[in-house]
Amino acid sequence: MKPKEALLELKGAYKTYTLGGTPVKAMDNVSVSIEAGEFVAIMGPSGSGKSTLLHVLGLLDRPDQGQYVVAGIDTTTRTDDQLAGLRNRLLGFVFQQFHLLPNLTAQANVELPLLYAGRRNHQDAASNRLREVGLAARSDHRPRQMSGGEQQRVAIARSLVNDPLVILADEPTGNLDTKSEAEILRVLEELNRQGITVVMVTHEPEVAARARRILRMRDGKLIADERRKTAAKQKHRAEAPGSGAAWSAEQARGGRAVFTDHLRQALYAIVSHKLRSTLSMLGILIGVAAVIAMLALGQGARDSITKQLASLGSNLLNVHPGSHRFGPVSMEAGAVTRLTPQDSEALRRLPMIKRVAASVQGRAQVVAGANNWNTQVIGAEVPYAEMRASVPTLGRFFTDEEERGRQKVAVIGTTVVQQLFPNSNPVGATVRVNRIPFQIIGVLPTKGATGWRDQDDVMVIPLSTAMYRLLGKEYVDSIDVEVRDAKLMDAAEDAVSALIKQRHPSPNREDEGFEIRNMADLQDTLKQATQTMTLLLGSIAAISLLVGGIGIMNIMLVSVTERTREIGLRKALGARRQDILIQFLIEAVLMTVSGGLAGILLGAGISWGMSTVAKWNTTVSWWSVLLALTFSVGVGLAFGLWPARQAAQLKPIEALRYE
Ligand code: ADP
Repeated sequence: MKPKEALLELKGAYKTYTLGGTPVKAMDNVSVSIEAGEFVAIMGPSGSGKSTLLHVLGLLDRPDQGQYVVAGIDTTTRTDDQLAGLRNRLLGFVFQQFHLLPNLTAQANVELPLLYAGRRNHQDAASNRLREVGLAARSDHRPRQMSGGEQQRVAIARSLVNDPLVILADEPTGNLDTKSEAEILRVLEELNRQGITVVMVTHEPEVAARARRILRMRDGKLIADERRKTAAKQKHRAEAPGSGAAWSAEQARGGRAVFTDHLRQALYAIVSHKLRSTLSMLGILIGVAAVIAMLALGQGARDSITKQLASLGSNLLNVHPGSHRFGPVSMEAGAVTRLTPQDSEALRRLPMIKRVAASVQGRAQVVAGANNWNTQVIGAEVPYAEMRASVPTLGRFFTDEEERGRQKVAVIGTTVVQQLFPNSNPVGATVRVNRIPFQIIGVLPTKGATGWRDQDDVMVIPLSTAMYRLLGKEYVDSIDVEVRDAKLMDAAEDAVSALIKQRHPSPNREDEGFEIRNMADLQDTLKQATQTMTLLLGSIAAISLLVGGIGIMNIMLVSVTERTREIGLRKALGARRQDILIQFLIEAVLMTVSGGLAGILLGAGISWGMSTVAKWNTTVSWWSVLLALTFSVGVGLAFGLWPARQAAQLKPIEALRYE
């Protein structure tokens, strides 16, 4: 007769631990064979190797040596992840400390193994099992709202939810009062009657008395194997599911947890450690807010400079007296070219030139009635209006006749209007500029501030009036030259230079005594400068983001240590490395992304504050938001990976035992 095939078959197993330098044999040549439907108790004094045997039988640990076959599957050659699959589908665990996740409801605790089996009908299966252990009414309660006996019943429901062949219980009644103990034992007996194999570690003879077979351990050795013919044995029982039938690896592997389940578990972890999660989010929040605000500031500066340069026109050359030399090198006397309105006249006749406007600058005190204001005075030729985007919005600019006739007329900027004519129309009014009466004939368009200079705090008067009546200047300060076509800029620059040189022969040929500034070049230079500034601000902000990321890593590492037992439990219930890795990564990314989103809001708020309170120009660009978000995800992945790997690599039994 062919002997009945065993469900659990352990042959020649050894397990040695080293405790303080001396080897301790926790399992010393243990062989045991357990058939489907048995109810086995493992007994022995403390330290005799009972738990070690149970853990090996439960695939939570591997023997150093020996063979172990479960339901026809030789587990010796299986990978850790395959063992996790087998635990999940074939075995159910009940621990002395219950090992329920404290912030999950009874229902959610019972659902956990289903998640790692990839089964979708979570709720029904879990509530059915809760009903079977008599806790249907408590499904929404959390572990701390339940008695020890109830918690252990939840743990039993959890062990049953994947329809296991075997239940492994490690001192299941060790932490319970007598009444609860009786209840739990009754449940286990009932399960056994239904055909489930039960293997239980206990040191209490009256608990062991419920079993029909007792294995006795001492010093790692199996010293007795007693089978008892009790009345219960005679009862007819259903054939154990899967008894004798070899499980294929495919069957045992079952399904895979899906992303949404991992997401839910990650959310659970975040929510159940609110303070810690908030603190770690804070680092990212500040980093991202800084990035957004800094980039907004940089972008704003660039935008306003671009706008101003655009209003200048890009075909402009600016001729002004000076030297190529800067800094402490003093210039020889006579090396500076003195430009005159006649130079402007001569330049106007060059073929490539469209318009020319000479100008002088100075400051003057302007008085209108009781109001008094010190402002910048620009004396200019008529084309200035068009060339410098200064055609009045109200009134008019002065004419060539007025310019030639040294008329005392003025066009003023909006800041001057506010200061001198707070509530009235200035056009037609008379003001005194350094005590000389001028008539206001127009108001300049508003240009805004450049950050350090208010462009609207200005008064424009005819060049001749400024030179000979107001400021007492013999020479002009600069001449703007507008070239007909952007393509002619270089040629025009040469022609202008040649003409000025011809009109002002310099004693020293090396020093030309004047400079021609190409506004297009200036534009490029300024753009580059602001770009550099943006980059600088951005990298400062990026550093704070980096610090935030390290904060996240720190917190995650702490959380791996703190949650070692949770990780052990998840692994015992069938979580593979990948499941743990993904859950921890999702946690990290969720924290950085939510911190990032809050940071974007805060950063946008700060930018808004800077523009309304400090009047700085800021622009929150979509690309900075995108950058911040990508960065947050990246920081989460990069800094979450290490802690997640640490968590994933924990050995289930060591993690479970972690204190
Ligand atoms: P029991 O469950 O019968 O009390 P265990 O199986 O827990 O016994 O332990 C058997 C022996 O192995 C004990 O001496 C224990 O100290 C030792 N032991 C168990 N697990 C470890 C471990 N992870 N590291 C070192 N020694 C261990």
